Amino acid sequence: VTQRSRRVRLAAWQLLAAVAGVAVAGGAIAVRAVQREIGVHALQSAQLSTELISELVVQRNVTGAELHAGRVQPGSRANIDRDVARLERRGTMVGFELWALDGGLLYADRNHPAEESRLPEAEAVRARAGAFIQPSPERRTEPTLDVVIPYDAEGDGVTDALIEVVLPRDRVSETITRWTRALYGGAGGVALLTAGALFMIRRRQRAQRRAARHDTLTGLGNRTLLAERSREVLAEPGRSSALLLLDLDDFKDVNDALGHHAGDELLVAVGHRLRSACRPADTVARLGGDEFAILLPDVPDAADALGSAERLLAALRQPVPVAGLGLEIGGSVGVAVAPDHGADLGTLLRRADVAMYAAKRDGAGVVAYQPGLETGRGEQLTLLAELRRAIGAAELRLHYQPKSTMDGRVVAVEALVRWQHPQRGLLGPGYFVPLAERTALIHPLTEWVLAEAARQAAAWRAEGQELTVAVNVTPRNLVYDDLPATVLAAADAAGLPASALEIEITETAAMTDPPRVAEIVGRLRRHGVDVWIDDFGAGYTSLSHLSTLPVSGLKIDRRFVSTLLHEPADEAVVRAVIHLARDLGLVSLAEGVETREVWDRLSDLGCRQIQGYVLSRPLPPDQLVTWIAAREPALVGRLRAAR
Ligand code: C2E
Ligand code: MG
Ligand code: MG
Repeated sequence: VTQRSRRVRLAAWQLLAAVAGVAVAGGAIAVRAVQREIGVHALQSAQLSTELISELVVQRNVTGAELHAGRVQPGSRANIDRDVARLERRGTMVGFELWALDGGLLYADRNHPAEESRLPEAEAVRARAGAFIQPSPERRTEPTLDVVIPYDAEGDGVTDALIEVVLPRDRVSETITRWTRALYGGAGGVALLTAGALFMIRRRQRAQRRAARHDTLTGLGNRTLLAERSREVLAEPGRSSALLLLDLDDFKDVNDALGHHAGDELLVAVGHRLRSACRPADTVARLGGDEFAILLPDVPDAADALGSAERLLAALRQPVPVAGLGLEIGGSVGVAVAPDHGADLGTLLRRADVAMYAAKRDGAGVVAYQPGLETGRGEQLTLLAELRRAIGAAELRLHYQPKSTMDGRVVAVEALVRWQHPQRGLLGPGYFVPLAERTALIHPLTEWVLAEAARQAAAWRAEGQELTVAVNVTPRNLVYDDLPATVLAAADAAGLPASALEIEITETAAMTDPPRVAEIVGRLRRHGVDVWIDDFGAGYTSLSHLSTLPVSGLKIDRRFVSTLLHEPADEAVVRAVIHLARDLGLVSLAEGVETREVWDRLSDLGCRQIQGYVLSRPLPPDQLVTWIAAREPALVGRLRAAR
């Protein structure tokens, strides 16, 4: 819902409420006017009745002299009794009294005796002035009207006494109540009907709006809802958000094997899983088929978005009950982050799609978009073909980065591969190692690196510099290759003891097949080759597996080291890894150390070795020699002499 349409709808409702309010107020005023009119009429007729009764009862039976004397003779009294009784029998009235001007009682109705012996002063005053009329419910069970009027016996315009008549509330007053009731009832009914109609209209509108924005099968949002929400979210400057595109793995197989009904069931279950794994503010939409999009309105950075994507996949991995089976469903997620990767939904969707295909192709689970990813399959194949040629054509280079103890003594160097591409220039390993890792090409690549590293180590030895060289290997090298044999062959060919080489395996690789990795590491160690776990802390190491892996050390991942001084949580991780290494009898090395401050802090924490720009960037072999020479002047002489 856009801000604008929300405002318009609100204004419409306010207008409607105002109109309804005016209508109700107008109705109330009309009812009051009618009531007043009826009331006035009733009072007039009550006064008239009383005047007629006074003519009938008093005029005929009492003289002015009696009234002036303040005493009604017994004969007159009997006559009054008779007439009063007759009128009361007929129901014309239900009580009668005759009062002197000063309020003293002159005659009291026998059937309905007066309660006071004097007319209350207030009533007397108003009666003398014209008439006193008041409903008298407290006196009688049936509704009555108490009327007191002045009486002029001689017709000379001078009041001689006050006459009080109690009238049954006549039809008119009954009518007042009935009509009032009817009026109120009618108004209430109309109000209820209007409210009901409004409610129905609104519910209908809501249902229509919902239907237009939701997927009927899963109840999740659809593309329209996603478009609306993303317009709102992307419009806010300075707000970073992420779009995740999820495609289920092997959904087609479920449909083919178990039928469309099972497929639908699975989609519904996946919808539930996604919805409950997300925050309320997130938008989960099904774009069609087995493709879902999730808009996360507030994410600090791509890493956070990747974390959310991993969480969603983990939620899906729990078996889903479909067609009586517990199906394990996987998915591939592409992540695009706004505003870095795009400022509108179209661009974000396209880029998340590129990333999602990369994730699917590589079986990577989650991939964040990055500019090079669009590189089509064709271009990647070209690059692979070129790489195959490059390995033979001596286009690959090794740069070396020193590892040192905490007091700066260099203990080893790590070989990091580069590709001197004839057109593209010097390419980092990020461009081609992952590509090679997806094919068998990783084996000749690793063999080349091992051979070259061994050759260089031998050359340095010949110059009097005993440097152990560490080589990185990938998961595939561990699983499909006889790595120890390759390492030994490389050392052998260079005339080196195997212990001149070290192997680095990433934490993730170490945990893919722990028993097999433990066996390989064990064999390498028996030949004197140290093995390190690289990028430790970034993956998910099972501590029980770690304790059974005969590795020599842990390289603490750069991402914790670089933020050590500012992120207490990262410092806690680094400290924990250092302690863990010490307790398992392993060497701890912090990689990515860029400043002296971090170096000092690591010393305080008990770290054993460091590597990073603070010492040196990875350098070509000749520059590395110069660097070492500059740091350790004593060495210079030795190296010069050796040359
Ligand atoms: P790695 O083994 O963790 O290597 C460390 C990476 O961090 C290197 O990037 C290095 O240049 C960089 N680095 C070192 N010190 C610092 C620092 O203080 N600050 C920062 N920001 N970065 C630092 P590089 O050379 O791009 O290598 C990236 C990754 O590629 C390596 O991570 C490794 O996993 C892989 N790799 C490199 N060479 C080979 C190889 O020959 N074979 C295989 N299989 N993988 C390799
Ligand atoms: Mg490494
Ligand atoms: Mg590393």
